[in-house]
Amino acid sequence: MATISLVVPCYNEQEALPIFYDTVEKVIHEKLADYAVEYLFVNDGSADNTLKEMRQLQEKDPDHVHYISFSRNFGKEAALYAGLQNVGGDYIAVMDVDLQDPPDLLPKMLSGILDEGYDVVGTRRVTRAGEPPIRSFFARMFYRLINKISKTEIVDGARDYRLMTKQVKDAILSVTEYNRFSKGIFGWVGFKTKYIPYENVERVAGETHWSFWSLFKYSLDGIVAFSETPLAIASFVGLLSFVGSVCALIFIIVRAMINGDPTPGWPSMVSIFLAVGGLQLLCLGIVGKYIGNIYLEVKHRPIYIVQEKK
Ligand code: UDP
Ligand code: MG
Repeated sequence: MATISLVVPCYNEQEALPIFYDTVEKVIHEKLADYAVEYLFVNDGSADNTLKEMRQLQEKDPDHVHYISFSRNFGKEAALYAGLQNVGGDYIAVMDVDLQDPPDLLPKMLSGILDEGYDVVGTRRVTRAGEPPIRSFFARMFYRLINKISKTEIVDGARDYRLMTKQVKDAILSVTEYNRFSKGIFGWVGFKTKYIPYENVERVAGETHWSFWSLFKYSLDGIVAFSETPLAIASFVGLLSFVGSVCALIFIIVRAMINGDPTPGWPSMVSIFLAVGGLQLLCLGIVGKYIGNIYLEVKHRPIYIVQEKK
């Protein structure tokens, strides 16, 4: 009997967790009865009763339910990594606990691997209905931008929700970087991947952990992790500004030789100082972001700390 492992990161999800378990159990009994399915819940330092709910589920169904509990909130990326490190199934799915990743897609995803020969079957939201329009706009811009400047393909609307073979899981685990941007890592490891499109589903309980700014920061982290283009842009902007100023200097010298030097124009001078100073700070910021990431990387801190495991 082949085993399917479900890796489920949970952060403050006390309401969603039992609903998730019941819903997935139903799908398993109806459509995946030939498989052994095991759950690995990762409690990402929840402040509510999520861990209690996990313990209860584990006591109720000790053969199939396992959990790992972090000592604090390490973020979803860390939770995914911990989950993948601790599952043993033949096929591994990562899914959110809020049922925004529809469990009834699982049989179809499995058939993508078994019948069509894919290594990974992912899911892609085709609509962003129910999302603030400004967020959708920036999301679309982000995917356009990162796919232009990064060699790793990052599919627009692709969720983390995916089913993969053991081989793919091991490949993902072999990427041990500290700054984990899963959407990029999934693409980076390669393998034959298929995306199943589906309509966006609203959260079943609780609320999203993402604000506009946290998403903005996350997208910057993604760009820094998977592209060196911003560094090249920084050098290019510097070069452009240098060449421009040399041209302007030649123009001014020639004009002074022809017309004499009337010394007007200090306001324009101040504006230019400010513009150049701003550009320098911007480029320094870009470089700084990469150095910051190197710093975090070389410290070799563990990606997560486990407090309890069952
Ligand atoms: N999550 C997590 N750690 C965090 C934030 C979120 O483990 O720091 C989990 C969360 O419990 C959920 C999944 O990641 O299962 C997706 O989170 P959310 O639903 O807030 O994101 P969205 O669906 O809005 O993108
Ligand atoms: Mg969600």
